[in-house]
Amino acid sequence: MSRLWSPHIESMKREQIEEMQTELLKKQLNYVYHRAPFYQKLYKKSGVKPDDVKNINDLQKLPLTKTGDLQAEMKETGDEYSGRLCVPESELLAVYGPNQHPMPENPLITGITDSDRNTIIQHLARNLIMSGIYSGDTIQSLCWAWEPFNRVYMAANLLISPSVSEILGITPVTLEIIPLEAPRTFATARLLKPSLIIADIGHLTQLAAICQQNNISPEEIGYKTIILKEQRILSEKETKEVSEKWKAKVHNMLAVQDNMLYAEDCNIHNGLHIWEDAFIPEIVDEETGEKVGEGEAGKLAITNLFAKGNPMIRYLINITAKIEKTPCNCGRTHSRLKPQ
Ligand SMILES: [Zn+2]
Repeated sequence: MSRLWSPHIESMKREQIEEMQTELLKKQLNYVYHRAPFYQKLYKKSGVKPDDVKNINDLQKLPLTKTGDLQAEMKETGDEYSGRLCVPESELLAVYGPNQHPMPENPLITGITDSDRNTIIQHLARNLIMSGIYSGDTIQSLCWAWEPFNRVYMAANLLISPSVSEILGITPVTLEIIPLEAPRTFATARLLKPSLIIADIGHLTQLAAICQQNNISPEEIGYKTIILKEQRILSEKETKEVSEKWKAKVHNMLAVQDNMLYAEDCNIHNGLHIWEDAFIPEIVDEETGEKVGEGEAGKLAITNLFAKGNPMIRYLINITAKIEKTPCNCGRTHSRLKPQ
């Protein structure tokens, strides 16, 4: 069995996971219904009430949350949170937009509370342990300065929860992702010799070009592990190519930061684990909202069970995938997302 950050949660039996999800789902539905005008309108329009959902299979009685509907709400009401902010704005620790450049028109704005940040920190700690990180390691992580992914590394006097760096005992070097940033990543890596980098394929390609200009091979940088943080699930061919070029272990992290999800593959590399004590993943027909058959491919919809700031229920993501629910050989029992 692999090392696990929260063994009692990560290796829970399926029945226990689903029992936990049912309780959290009921609470979260009541929470958003009474606090988020967007959900109150959406559910009233479709004639369902939170109390109609008695278990996780009833979730499909609820309509999907679609980006277009949120953007329309924003335009209609002028509310930058599209009617889904559940706490007073003063309780938000950070507010961020989509991880896209250039920023799309009517971007979805997401706010996180300190409690949200604390949960995301626990998820990233699980992910980093799953990637083989040890206390004392230095890691390089590329992320936008304002996104929660960056903020989870930072400690600040005003924050209550300890950062992921503090709980794991690692040294993070965070860098902004801008197209010309690769020389800085290169220089920092040569100086600090991080064992792991979190970046996207585009940045690694630029970094490989800088290596070539400096007459060194990518493997001489010395990364043992590369986490490819993308807004999609990579194919085996893509991760293999990166692994061969850099002579490193490669993991794929799917980031859906609008809904605070970071799913990643373990050392078995047989799908991306989704932390089901915090999310309910569904594979659905995007038109009808119904779940597809067990093991079939469809669009991914994610229900966030923990967030207090901007939780989203059945948030439809433009990713085609399958879900595998059988326990993984790594010892974890949480579902795995697989590409079609
Ligand atoms: Zn696994």
